[in-house]
Amino acid sequence: MTTNLPSNDRALRERAAAVIPGGMYGHLSTVLLPDDYPQFFDRGEGAYIWDADGTRYLDLMCAYGPNLFGYAVESVDAAAIAGIRRGDPLTGPSELMVELAEQMVGMVSHADWAMFCKNGTDATTMALMTARAQTKRKTVVLAKGAYHGAAPWCTPRPMGTTAEDRANQIFCTYNDIASLEEAVAKAGDDLAAIFAAPFKHDSFVDQSLPDPAYARRARELCDEAGAMLVVDDVRAGLRIARDCSWSVVGVKPDLSTWGKAIANGHPISALLGADTAREGAQSIYVTGSFWYAMAPMAAALETLRLVRETNYLEKTERLGQQLRDGLHDSAGAHGFSLRQTGPAQMPLIMFDEDPDLRLGFAWASEMLKRGIYMHPWHNMFLCDAMDEDDISAAINAADGAFAALKRQRPTLGPVTKLAAFA
Ligand code: PMP
Repeated sequence: MTTNLPSNDRALRERAAAVIPGGMYGHLSTVLLPDDYPQFFDRGEGAYIWDADGTRYLDLMCAYGPNLFGYAVESVDAAAIAGIRRGDPLTGPSELMVELAEQMVGMVSHADWAMFCKNGTDATTMALMTARAQTKRKTVVLAKGAYHGAAPWCTPRPMGTTAEDRANQIFCTYNDIASLEEAVAKAGDDLAAIFAAPFKHDSFVDQSLPDPAYARRARELCDEAGAMLVVDDVRAGLRIARDCSWSVVGVKPDLSTWGKAIANGHPISALLGADTAREGAQSIYVTGSFWYAMAPMAAALETLRLVRETNYLEKTERLGQQLRDGLHDSAGAHGFSLRQTGPAQMPLIMFDEDPDLRLGFAWASEMLKRGIYMHPWHNMFLCDAMDEDDISAAINAADGAFAALKRQRPTLGPVTKLAAFA
């Protein structure tokens, strides 16, 4: 399976197979991407990554979200390095923790307080605990298929978890008000929280933007029940708005979870909350050895400065639309029809008439050969380091990739490697 791979990647995979279970795990498991995708990378700069064999790609995955302003942004990294040189991590936090909490509370309109952690899953788990502690109830309503992390209560594959880990959860359908109302009714007087993705960004299916009526109804139902509304902004935070992503539909949650892009790749995540959830938040015990480190907080402060002072958001939206339009035209010219869904700066691209993803996988491989790293079933990300030339290069590559796909189409087989995951 790995025989076509260049030598360094192949050698690393062979070594990994001996000392890393399955050779790799989680979202980077080798079964999830086309066979010729590199597993190991050497470095990144701006909008580009170089794999372990030195091949350069325009990276439309942006590290699955953390890269907002480009890889190795000098000013962000310099801030982090200054923190490291102050001895980080110390026995307690620095002044930067208070500064960062103040800035995030100043930026996110629903928030009165902030707590910091490392990964998105830390933040979503803290949101769950805070909601339960605040309301002294157990039940949470979640949308089927939404990703909130990889802890036992939310990991998408149940192996190693128990039914009890997932007790007190009721599922609804995103953007479907009747199903939300039904789930809330089922929770009765035990509703602690409604969890919501800022828009539907589930894997393997088309994305959809939030119906404002759905968002408003979620708020109302929480208000009626005295429950907490949680927006999980780990993936979309700072990419939709310079505020919580549901600010664009005019709905303020009690809690929002952040991670990925907030320090442009440095390891920090956050739970933000309104005063309606403060008591719950201060009553739970949550912590971690690295949660108070100042380097990622310094990186976050510099990232937030860039968020305030640059037009990165408008730029990534514009470039995303340029990419979307170009791919639409190119696909059509070669007889393919794409479904390009979600916000243009977080695009998901699926082929029509491709239920087993054979077109998507083969096309992604052809794009990779042409120097563009894409994903066949997960949303992608644009970053501020990209420019018009990069987008034109991607569209040109797509032209060649669609032509190659057309030739291959009759001989393509189903993608069987995903069966183990689905
Ligand atoms: N929530 C959402 C919406 C996410 O996209 C992710 C990560 N993809 C998480 C939570 C978990 O974040 P992490 O992987 O940093 O734990």
